[in-house]
Amino acid sequence: MPNQPRPAGRRSRIALPATRDGAEGPEGDLPLKALTFGGRETVRCETVPDAKIQEAGDAIVRVEMAAVCGSDLHVYHEREKGLDHGTTMGHECVGEVVAAGGEVPSFRIGDRVACPFTTSCGACFYCRRQLTSRCERGRLFGWVQEGTGLQGMQAEYVRVPLAESTLLALPGDIAPEEGLLLGDVLSTGFFCADLAGVGPGTTCAVVGCGPVGLMAIVAARYLGAGEVFCIDSIPERLRLGTEFGGTPIDFAEADPVEVIRQRTGGRGVDAVLEVVGHSSAMRSAVDLVRPGGVVASVGVHTDPHFSFSPAEAYDRNLTFRTGRCPARAYMKRLLPLVQGKKYALSSLITHRLPLSDGVRAYRIFDEKSDGCMKVVLSP
Ligand code: NAD
Ligand code: ZN
Ligand code: ZN
Repeated sequence: MPNQPRPAGRRSRIALPATRDGAEGPEGDLPLKALTFGGRETVRCETVPDAKIQEAGDAIVRVEMAAVCGSDLHVYHEREKGLDHGTTMGHECVGEVVAAGGEVPSFRIGDRVACPFTTSCGACFYCRRQLTSRCERGRLFGWVQEGTGLQGMQAEYVRVPLAESTLLALPGDIAPEEGLLLGDVLSTGFFCADLAGVGPGTTCAVVGCGPVGLMAIVAARYLGAGEVFCIDSIPERLRLGTEFGGTPIDFAEADPVEVIRQRTGGRGVDAVLEVVGHSSAMRSAVDLVRPGGVVASVGVHTDPHFSFSPAEAYDRNLTFRTGRCPARAYMKRLLPLVQGKKYALSSLITHRLPLSDGVRAYRIFDEKSDGCMKVVLSP
């Protein structure tokens, strides 16, 4: 009976009322609050339909903490177009399993979990190669277009399809903030460093010191990089970049190309990690890399063309790598690093607001005002 919800296991702590279709659902028919997209630069905290078990592979997670990401800003400003109005935003959260379908044997009600920003089946061609972000059955949280897709995590509850292979059980020594960073920005920082081929002694330039860029600095250091230049124009971000082991360059005060050429015998760095998602940053990346070097770009770009030409790539013997982070694969790998507590990862989080204050959270995060680096929301 694959469509029957599995009864709560031994560790069940929550008694759930049955919803109309017989599946276990959180809070029965109580209205749920979520942050929804209302068009350009508009989010609303409003009541949305219940998150319910729809398939046997689903779990429902009660969100303990969600976050706003730089990727949400592409949607917020409609640089990325196509999201249906009324879609619940967000793709970073930690929480607790409150209901599960019959094909989620590893999770029990009450389990603490982290969730990557896409779902993945764990068994297809791509999942077997650890490219979970391109799972044949995978979907992105917080993206519903023409009525199809997945609601997001900036909500009281979220439905997680393919829960068995998507969710990661969180050990007790992982703080909610750490679990949340694992699901996206920490994993993406490591993915970028891997794409760039960072290893012992590699000289790097990290273009952009937002949350993902800072985690890319941590990754480069962890992988044994040589000097890691970090470039931004926001002083407190450059300060954190320095704390994580980077050499700061404020591009509003000095030309990074000149500084880096001077420090690398006129050549440029071995690897550039582009973590912004604007063509200005991509342009810098290509100007900063030495001939034969690698540009790894995890910034989400919405311009229709590259900001460098095929001839420039040829003339530099350039390797260019990009793509969506297979966060689920990285989460498992990075869990021991987080448990080691060597890095003050939670220092990225500057603002903690209730979900009901989400409209303000987006504004502060977007304006980068009040020293804002990363905002977390608690339902
Ligand atoms: P963010 O907006 O908080 O940070 C971007 C930083 O870049 C800011 O500090 C800004 O001051 C700086 N910046 C802007 N222009 C610059 C330039 N020309 N040179 C140097 N720095 C510049 O964003 P974030 O949350 O850190 O995310 C960064 C990017 O990564 C976004 O584009 C996001 O969509 C993307 N992302 C991609 C993946 C993936 O899987 N590939 C996952 C998560 C995020
Ligand atoms: Zn994100
Ligand atoms: Zn798959």
